[in-house]
Amino acid sequence: MLAAVMAGRAGLSVLVLEHNDSYGKKLSVTGNGKCNYTNLYQSIECYRGSDTEASFKIIQKFGPDKIIDFMRSLGIEPYKRCGREFDDARKVYVYPASESAADFTEAFQVEMNALKVKHKTRLHVCGIEKKEGCFNVTTIPSGEEDMTNAFSYKSRFVLVSAGGLAAPETGSDGSMLKIVKNSGIKVSKMTPALTKIYTKENLQNLAGVRMTGKISLMHEERVYTKEVGEIQFGTKAVSGIPAMQLSSLINDRNDLLLLDFFPNMSDNETMTYLEERRRRLKWHPAASFLKGLFPPKFGAYILEKLALKKSLTVDELKIDDLSKIKDLTKYMLLHIDKKGDFGEAQVTHGGILLSECTKNLEAKNVSGLYFAGEILDTDGICGGYNLTWAFASAYTAIQEIINKLHE
Ligand SMILES: Cc1cc2nc3c(=O)[nH]c(=O)nc-3n(C[C@H](O)[C@H](O)[C@H](O)COP(=O)(O)OP(=O)(O)OC[C@H]3O[C@@H](n4cnc5c(N)ncnc54)[C@H](O)[C@@H]3O)c2cc1C
Repeated sequence: MLAAVMAGRAGLSVLVLEHNDSYGKKLSVTGNGKCNYTNLYQSIECYRGSDTEASFKIIQKFGPDKIIDFMRSLGIEPYKRCGREFDDARKVYVYPASESAADFTEAFQVEMNALKVKHKTRLHVCGIEKKEGCFNVTTIPSGEEDMTNAFSYKSRFVLVSAGGLAAPETGSDGSMLKIVKNSGIKVSKMTPALTKIYTKENLQNLAGVRMTGKISLMHEERVYTKEVGEIQFGTKAVSGIPAMQLSSLINDRNDLLLLDFFPNMSDNETMTYLEERRRRLKWHPAASFLKGLFPPKFGAYILEKLALKKSLTVDELKIDDLSKIKDLTKYMLLHIDKKGDFGEAQVTHGGILLSECTKNLEAKNVSGLYFAGEILDTDGICGGYNLTWAFASAYTAIQEIINKLHE
């Protein structure tokens, strides 16, 4: 849609093809319905893929300032929210001032209509062929399987921005990837990213609890990466932004998660704190020891593990009990069963290898065929980085098409 608007503004004849009933179905559900469309903090570490240096060069051409300016040209004013708790202080998340992803999507549609950009919905692209310097893009009405009502559109350039495999109910069903692979373009292994993490432990008693803490991914007793933020418990899963960030890095079913709900205290400091709390609350029932410190369900879950006598008061808690509470809350170990599938993921890790494309995202082996967005082998962490990539890559591809047509 961004490329279509830019091409329309440059006076090109454009046709946008979409197999859903409307455009931007996924865009309309981003950021919990608020659309976190970019982030003022940009660094190569915010992106993943086989050639993040190449990806980042593309981001630098059309970074947050340019994205904000472009969206303002569609009437979308930015609302900048400072980093989430425990974030890098430089992180500034950008949303539309209306905090509405639906508004954001509509702004593109209004501009496309005003520019008289031709667009057709409910048309499934089932083939792209290049003959004598011209592309034939074959479509069939969505939902039909045979070619009775097939129709081909001719074009000098084609830009494919059909998404990856994540959230297929929004339209990104991988159909274009099959077509791309058939034309000999290499695609890396694709896995779900930014998704929940399923645990072997049954966490039913914690389901629905949300708590701030540190979550680390461990492998062979070594922490190899950690995230801090709001951790959400499900029946047999953990989610929330820090868990989703880690999910992208899980590749071994034997990995462990280590959850720390005293992330700002050392082991000794946690013990000292618990001892001081024992002194302060000495007349209270032991069953209330963690009330007011953790969500009630979580406190009850921890104390249940100690199997304390009902009549016990806080001052009767032994140092050994405090040590167990510390271990359960500072070193909570969960065994990873698997990560959420594509249906549960926000983004796809992997895709068309950037090495198959020129620096302006044209297929090296099919001139005139361009790619943008999640279909490429680049994904971002949470925080507006995936839309930043989608916009920057679309800008890069369409600018080159515009330049070639104006030559
Ligand atoms: C729940 C959720 C929340 C998210 N929140 C954020 C967020 O806040 N910030 C952020 O930066 N990122 C977010 N993302 C990720 C971001 O939305 C995607 O990375 C981004 O939309 C990718 O853009 P795209 O244009 O490459 O693909 P898509 O948005 O998937 O669009 C591809 C389009 O191509 C169409 N299509 C596919 N195949 C065909 C075909 N054969 N014929 C015709 N049409 C076809 C699809 O129907 C679809 O409309 C979120 C994702 C999800 C699922």
